[in-house]
Amino acid sequence: MLTEVQAGPYTIRGISVAGVYTSLQVPELSVVLDAGVPLRSFSTTDHIFLSHGHSDHASSLGALLGIRGLMGKHSPAQVFLPAEIESAVLESLEALGRLHRSAVSFKTIPLLPGETRKVYRDIWVRAFRTHHAGPSLGYQFFRRITKLKPEYQTLPGEEIGRLRREGVPELFDEVERLELAYATDTLSRVLESAPSIMESRVLILECTYLDQKFTVEETQERLHTHLDEIIARADRFQNEALVLMHFSQAYGPERVHDIIRQRVPPALLERVRVFAPSTSHWFG
Ligand SMILES: [Zn+2]
Ligand SMILES: [Zn+2]
Repeated sequence: MLTEVQAGPYTIRGISVAGVYTSLQVPELSVVLDAGVPLRSFSTTDHIFLSHGHSDHASSLGALLGIRGLMGKHSPAQVFLPAEIESAVLESLEALGRLHRSAVSFKTIPLLPGETRKVYRDIWVRAFRTHHAGPSLGYQFFRRITKLKPEYQTLPGEEIGRLRREGVPELFDEVERLELAYATDTLSRVLESAPSIMESRVLILECTYLDQKFTVEETQERLHTHLDEIIARADRFQNEALVLMHFSQAYGPERVHDIIRQRVPPALLERVRVFAPSTSHWFG
């Protein structure tokens, strides 16, 4: 029932149909991206990221947190979200708590564009601005790793070991390795305003409309991205894998696969993962 694609070293699982529901899980990063549908197997994940407040992305947060308790997870989940929607999310969860006569355990982490937080271990996240109705964010996950400074890189291992034991300072630089970026519900302009997402190992990008059924202009009026706009930038994606998602239900999933196969240039197509089931109907 869930769609699953392999994108570089990462597994992307979940469901996504524009305006209906989107919730993805990346188990290797221990993150859930959006909560537009409460999926049982996502409920024990500790880090939830909301892109914006539209119901197809955020309306099932309360249910997801509720299932978490049912699954025996009582540590508070961390909910990362645009700072501007924090109070509305808290109010809605409080109202749900009154309705259910039980409270769920969670902690919100409000973010503004450009802010960085540690997720867990060496995984960090940086929020970036997406272009949609109301406050919305994309998320760039990266690892902070240490790398030998260039001047030491040609030295043999035992020499490095000796310098380390002698306590030579600043042998290493701290660098960011861009692992996975998530940009949904946005104008394609995000590819210019946050260009580093095109250098991330994996990019999960919305692609709501796919052909002449909707023009680029109509797509932009709805604050979404058209496949034409991705094709126009085909040679700029440096990603190991580009996961296209959030397709309009104006297309059946089989049609989505067909259109992308026919329209995307081969050099990009081999890196594209189509986040749609191989069935003739969308889930539900
Ligand atoms: Zn949406
Ligand atoms: Zn939206």
